[in-house]
Amino acid sequence: MTKIKPIGPIPAGYKVVGGELVIGDEKASDLVTKNGSPLFVYSAELLSRKINRLRSAMPDQLNIHYAMKANPFGPLLEHMIGEADGIDIASGGELIMALAAGAKAENISFAGPGKRDEELLHAIEAGITINLESPGECDRAILIAAGAGKKPRLAIRVNPDFDLKGSGMKMGGGAKPFGMDIELVAPTAQRILDAGAHWRGFHIFAGSQALKADAIVETQAQTIALAARLAEEIGESPEHVNLGGGFGIPYFPGDEPVDIEVIGNALTSQFSNLPNILSKTQFAIELGRYLVGEAGVYLTRIIDRKVSQGHVFLVTDGGLHHQLAASGNFGTVVRRNYPAAVATKFDQKPSEVVSIVGCLCTPLDRLSDNAEMPKADVGDVIAVFCAGAYGATASPANFLGQGPAREIIVG
Ligand SMILES: *Cc1c(COP(=O)(O)O)cnc(C)c1O
Repeated sequence: MTKIKPIGPIPAGYKVVGGELVIGDEKASDLVTKNGSPLFVYSAELLSRKINRLRSAMPDQLNIHYAMKANPFGPLLEHMIGEADGIDIASGGELIMALAAGAKAENISFAGPGKRDEELLHAIEAGITINLESPGECDRAILIAAGAGKKPRLAIRVNPDFDLKGSGMKMGGGAKPFGMDIELVAPTAQRILDAGAHWRGFHIFAGSQALKADAIVETQAQTIALAARLAEEIGESPEHVNLGGGFGIPYFPGDEPVDIEVIGNALTSQFSNLPNILSKTQFAIELGRYLVGEAGVYLTRIIDRKVSQGHVFLVTDGGLHHQLAASGNFGTVVRRNYPAAVATKFDQKPSEVVSIVGCLCTPLDRLSDNAEMPKADVGDVIAVFCAGAYGATASPANFLGQGPAREIIVG
């Protein structure tokens, strides 16, 4: 017998009608019949529910930004612009998309190493905030702004001297391509002020995909303390401090959702005891996967059912070219199963152990290994959950000439 590998937890909020997974008001099989397979489906209702619940757990004065690199699909981005207080971008391409989707310049901030001169120019002309990653980038931004006759909005991204414990991806602590080392921050702020630019404040991002509320609380407290220390050194109050994000979602068996009440309560007490220099500061957090990940499902039809040496393979028309992360090839050390299901038999009990694979000619193309599923056949539809973040645009769509999957947003 093959050893069963459990699948990750299926996110809450999905419905079953007539035995099938329903997203919005439509059955999975109708969605792919109408829109083609494979297909990314995003639920506007689940998107709104998630951010509303977060907002009610957080102190009122905290702004919530959407980090659009998690999912830049136009209609989803428009929805999130309507829901979030700001949009955080990480490239000039994202700037074009954010403006086209209706984001207001004063609510956009731009982080990311390696900003080209033309990206800085566009950012300055549009009037968005640039989170400077190095003193060299600061000099370039000031020069480019002078050439364009503009007063740039400049914040400093700090490479913190701590990291977010338990985070899947560390973005602070130690030598990093992101942000400036602490001792460079005050001199760079001085340079911004001397140049007559608009100093916006700090951006301090310490890590991603953390599920432990205590670790996030500790990091936020350290971040506020660091912002206060740096502001004292500069001798100016920052208008804005972006506390980073790092809220994860459960992808794998045993993962538990982040306890946002614990974080909200801790922030409320932090905000009621702020150091003087931060008493007028606007705080924000920036989240990608937490806001959108669980609201997306990747649907893919079974093309073939085959048995090799007693093991059942469900071969789909999708794969790692759209779902690199679910295949285990996007920053994971040990491959584990994402939440997945037979969407067309969503209410049936598992009855066999199968591997769900994609259509690419490589052994890396697996969507689920040795998973227990109801018996599925050619024509059934597989759902891979947690597909709302780092799916379509974080996967090599052109690999093997496959091309992108269609994306839709439903009510
Ligand atoms: C990628 C990124 C995010 C979003 O990360 P998630 O894990 O999707 O929340 C937020 N801020 C910065 C600076 C990033 O680079």
